[in-house]
Amino acid sequence: MSHHRPGVSLLLTAALAVVTPSAQAAQSDVTPAELRAHSAEFRRDLIRVADGVWIAVGYAASNVILIQGKDGVIIVDTSPNPTQARTIRTVFATVAKGPVRAIFYTHSHPDHTGGASVFAGDDHPQIIAGFAGVRTPIGRPDQDGADQFGMKVPDALYINAGVQQEYGREVPPTDAGYLAPTRVVTTRETMTVAGVTLEVIPTPGEAGDSISIWLPEKRVIASGDDVLKTFPNIAPIRGAPMRPPGQWIASLDTILALDPAVLLPGHMRPITGAAEVHGVVAAYRDAIRSINDQTLSGMKRGERPDALVRTVKLTPALAANPWLRQYYGTVEWMVRGIYAAELGWFDGNATDVFPLSARARAADLLPMIGGKAGAIAAGEAALRDGKYRWAAELADLVLVGDGTDVAAKSLKARALTELGKREGNAIARNWYLSVAAHLSKDDPRR
Ligand SMILES: [Zn+2]
Repeated sequence: MSHHRPGVSLLLTAALAVVTPSAQAAQSDVTPAELRAHSAEFRRDLIRVADGVWIAVGYAASNVILIQGKDGVIIVDTSPNPTQARTIRTVFATVAKGPVRAIFYTHSHPDHTGGASVFAGDDHPQIIAGFAGVRTPIGRPDQDGADQFGMKVPDALYINAGVQQEYGREVPPTDAGYLAPTRVVTTRETMTVAGVTLEVIPTPGEAGDSISIWLPEKRVIASGDDVLKTFPNIAPIRGAPMRPPGQWIASLDTILALDPAVLLPGHMRPITGAAEVHGVVAAYRDAIRSINDQTLSGMKRGERPDALVRTVKLTPALAANPWLRQYYGTVEWMVRGIYAAELGWFDGNATDVFPLSARARAADLLPMIGGKAGAIAAGEAALRDGKYRWAAELADLVLVGDGTDVAAKSLKARALTELGKREGNAIARNWYLSVAAHLSKDDPRR
């Protein structure tokens, strides 16, 4: 049977050349040039979308909406902080008449709730939301210097934060302007505020406490962060629970059934025209449903996360849809998030019933590859070969035992910088470059 060997080894060589995972430089399918072009979504604009309805885009990390009523105004979302809220209030002063009667929060995220006191002024408006108080997330301490918003990324490498130009780079995060809701809405409800009849509709999606504000006469909907011009961030990597795809899909169906003529998102520019709104929202729903269904099917076949992320994909048409480019969320993180949420942390490999710690693995592996010096030398070679993730892993073999090793920190910082420079997904890019900046701080070689 020796005559089969050359063919087999040729095949093996070809397969290795194609699929060696560590040779893949970047993870997402968005280029930095594409992310840079995406910054146009954040340009400052006060847009009148219907009679008496304006949206302020790009003045802050999130949009603020003004609805003019008969005897005052309604504000929907408030920007992240009083500083940026004051700028928007000044812009609104050119069109608004009368006191602020109500402030709606579309959801509890701090980039939408932090400027309320500025809009409230001395008007004592109702504060209406789908939540009573903001749950303090468990979060993850800043131990690795990581940050999806890239607050500490050097200007020369920073592009944007995916759904906003920046968050926390110009004004540090603060809850100084937050006002607690005075009225909580958890079921669909029609109300009249400032002489405006509107409907409040719970639409859990990017946040579990999301509500949409629907103006039936104008067919305008403010839908918070449930539809943004990016693939949705279903499974955030910043240390927050997965946003359940099923309820997000149901909320998008609810929005579609209203047949809105204008959709006002929490970030970036509005969508106008019933056909346009329908096209975007339906594609968004189809993308979430497709990835969810493919992941669940693969799980039922026994596929583990590493296999699932290779096979679960958007259709070419959805992947190319400008509203589904992976500037912010990614398909891969959604797949991993669904797996962990549905099947737990364990992937079924018996080796990992009680996983060997990274530190124990490194202690046994390092002597096999020439100790610290061997790992660093191999890492430097990997860096030269463009195997940046492998270079970072080799640095980690040293750092897990000695977090102060200067050569390993330098190697990892340069590997992450190369990954970040090539990455067009804002969260991944900012994460890589934030940790690289953190590692480089006390590095005498940089
Ligand atoms: Zn937001």
